[in-house]
Amino acid sequence: MTNDTWGKVREQLLNSVGKSNYVNWIEPLEFANLHDGVATFHVPTQFMGNWVSRNFGEQIMHHLAKADSSVSRVEFSVPATASKAVARTRPAMASAAKVAEAAKDEIDLPGAPLDARFTFDSFVVGKPNELAHAAARRVAEGGPVTFNPLFLYGGVGLGKTHLMHAIAWELQARSPELRVVYLSAEQFMYRFVQALREKKMMNFKELFRSVDVLMVDDVQFIAGKDSTQEEFFHTFNALVDQNKQIIISADRAPGEIKDLEERIKSRLQCGLVVDLHPTDYELRLGILQQKVEQYRLQYRDLVLVDGVLEFLAHRISTNVRVLEGALTRLFAFASLVGREITLELAQDCLADILRASDRKVTIEEIQRRVSEHYNIRLSDMIGPKRVRTIARPRQVAMYLAKQLTSRSLPEIGRRFGGRDHTTVMHGVKRIEELRNVDNQIAEDVELLRRSLEI
Ligand code: ADP
Ligand code: MG
Repeated sequence: MTNDTWGKVREQLLNSVGKSNYVNWIEPLEFANLHDGVATFHVPTQFMGNWVSRNFGEQIMHHLAKADSSVSRVEFSVPATASKAVARTRPAMASAAKVAEAAKDEIDLPGAPLDARFTFDSFVVGKPNELAHAAARRVAEGGPVTFNPLFLYGGVGLGKTHLMHAIAWELQARSPELRVVYLSAEQFMYRFVQALREKKMMNFKELFRSVDVLMVDDVQFIAGKDSTQEEFFHTFNALVDQNKQIIISADRAPGEIKDLEERIKSRLQCGLVVDLHPTDYELRLGILQQKVEQYRLQYRDLVLVDGVLEFLAHRISTNVRVLEGALTRLFAFASLVGREITLELAQDCLADILRASDRKVTIEEIQRRVSEHYNIRLSDMIGPKRVRTIARPRQVAMYLAKQLTSRSLPEIGRRFGGRDHTTVMHGVKRIEELRNVDNQIAEDVELLRRSLEI
């Protein structure tokens, strides 16, 4: 293979990855040599090497192999002169990337690989996650530790892991010398048990205490696992003492994790605790729109009819993962059958997902639950009284009706004693605002929502 071959392959890559990816990631690659079937490219930083390997490694390989059948593998490495500076910098999560193979002399940090798609760029910010996003951004800036730990919590598929990976990528890009370790609580336990079994506890302790930033995902997993909790607690304290940043996620608030030791709970609450709220319609639509932008590169000829995204954002409200899955399937299907993406196609091809997320909650049920919760009479829900003690629960019920059913504002208004749709809209807005500033309301809404969604 020669530089010429690479020149041709680059042209093909320009087509397959798109202009901006090409400029950012492919153009800077410098073909170094081909040895024993391994094509090596020089990259300016290890971070970039990891990124290219994860995102474009396969495509590069594919085109290279077509141009020169002797190529069986690609590697990205920082040239010798530059690599000194970054020798200590290999992020733990890069262990999965091919660059790692060339760097065996470095300490093997205990992290898990990062998902290249989970960056701040690809994270859509909306009301439900803006606080968590802001906190994550702040931590990703590096600098002096201001809150420790950062504790992110929220339901399945709301972006906890995405945000953690985004922090890791960003930190790595800004300060390559930092040892950033991301892993799940399950992996932490696995490592711990392995160390016990192999009598390597000293190594384990040293390893974890030597990181600069530790991220443990889904920490609820260690609840009830006593010796793992214990070790986690010590690791945690050791790092906090050294002023090292810790970022934790869980599916619920620290205080609500069952079978977690009290001292751990209180430690976890010491920093900044922020939650990711369930997605709202706007956020879901934003996420879909972003995804579609990506798909446009891949499926250039597909036509997406207006209203389809809105329909999906409205109907699929369980979690973002399901939402993304639906869109992926829709595009793949449309491209297979060569049809436009219309509402009918979406209904056809996503029938199962739509059925599963079909909420059967009725407005009557919402009204009943809410009035029970606030101890008011059901008849007052739809009656004319305007005192706060009645009006507020009514607004909560309207809000939930908007969120949990597919009824339109005028329809909801009718069910609330024939109120105008602007009244409903006002109520919904009011509760949206209050949720952010009034913990009690936020809690009430969350509790009611959960009880209604079962
Ligand atoms: P969690 O860890 O909270 O269960 P994830 O971080 O794994 O959820 O997110 C599930 C999926 O949804 C991922 O593919 C993620 O990229 C996507 N996702 C979640 N929230 C957002 C968001 N705000 N913007 C873009 N993608 C998101
Ligand atoms: Mg997760």
